[in-house]
Amino acid sequence: MAESASPIADRMQCIDASGIRKVFDLAAKLADPINLSIGQPDYDVPEACKQRAIEAIRAGSNRYTVTQGDAALREAVAENLRSEFGSFDSPLLITSGVSGGLLLAFLATINPGDEVLIPDPYFVMYKHLVNLIGGVPVFVDTYPDFHLRADTLEAAVTERTRMLILNSPANPTGVVYTADELRGAADVARRHNLLVVSDEIYNAFAYDGPAPSAWPLYDRVVLLRGFSKTYAMTGWRLGYCAGPEPVVQAMTTLQQYTFVCAPAPFQAAAMTALETDASEYIDLFRRRRDLVYGGLRDRFNVEKPGGAFYIFPEAPGPSATAFVSRAVEAGVLVIPGSVFSERDSHFRIAYAADAETIERGVEVLNRLADG
Ligand code: PMP
Repeated sequence: MAESASPIADRMQCIDASGIRKVFDLAAKLADPINLSIGQPDYDVPEACKQRAIEAIRAGSNRYTVTQGDAALREAVAENLRSEFGSFDSPLLITSGVSGGLLLAFLATINPGDEVLIPDPYFVMYKHLVNLIGGVPVFVDTYPDFHLRADTLEAAVTERTRMLILNSPANPTGVVYTADELRGAADVARRHNLLVVSDEIYNAFAYDGPAPSAWPLYDRVVLLRGFSKTYAMTGWRLGYCAGPEPVVQAMTTLQQYTFVCAPAPFQAAAMTALETDASEYIDLFRRRRDLVYGGLRDRFNVEKPGGAFYIFPEAPGPSATAFVSRAVEAGVLVIPGSVFSERDSHFRIAYAADAETIERGVEVLNRLADG
């Protein structure tokens, strides 16, 4: 290596985190920001789960588990999926968060040059991970209502398309796909033999009835779900993956040489999480959804979100980045849509904050929209 050569691999050039960094740089100058940028719950892990984790550590659950995850947890997850879907007998892999599942799923299935359909706006990781692996993200524009249309999906398919990524309830839009639109997407996938990766990390956060899943609609779905959001355990790094046997098998082989296993004591605690009723949190977030949507709808062009804890209004003025700079200068932290999209027209509010913070933020945003 020449002395002046960078120690950083070329593939790192695929990853651009400058949009978010700019917001955080601006935010660092603020003493007491109204923070509507954080994508995690503001409550803490339920007490019973904490107790179970502490007990597990004391009882010696501190070593590697089997690569695919503790058998009792896998059985409990399978039982849960059985009661949701009526039947479930696919292999499962316990992952280090949904992030771990996404990385393994992409590594296991995407060849260089393979095209991956990503509805736009999208969760940032999809674009960067697909690029990192040498896949080609193909963005399918879903503006202005962020719903999936089978004809737009169909039009984006080429002979190199291999995968479709779905995320419902969605980050950053909060949209929940209807069963019909998922069926339409599954039909496109079936016609072109695509693998569908369905990121359902927000499936519990659905405010107008249960969020339909892609899982029962098609036999080539890789289902990814997690514990991070529902039980506020973002730092515990736990998720799971179900899918076609060869895919889960390949992901398990990769996990063996990367993550090794998901954190052992938290796998034990996840059993308690599965028995924990989260409806009180969901009710709280429904009220917040109503508060933020009700507060913005008169002055912003905004879709009512059905799930997750995000809302994605259109920014007034020429660019969302410019509007977000003004918002941050006025003390409100939100993220410009360009971080999650090929467009720079909207911005993301995360309403995982108390009512007072939401109200203060909405008031400032409305004032900026007026002037
Ligand atoms: N998918 C989506 C859509 C997300 O918003 C997040 C978290 N921001 C993740 C996956 C990753 O979650 P985790 O790795 O904590 O399970």
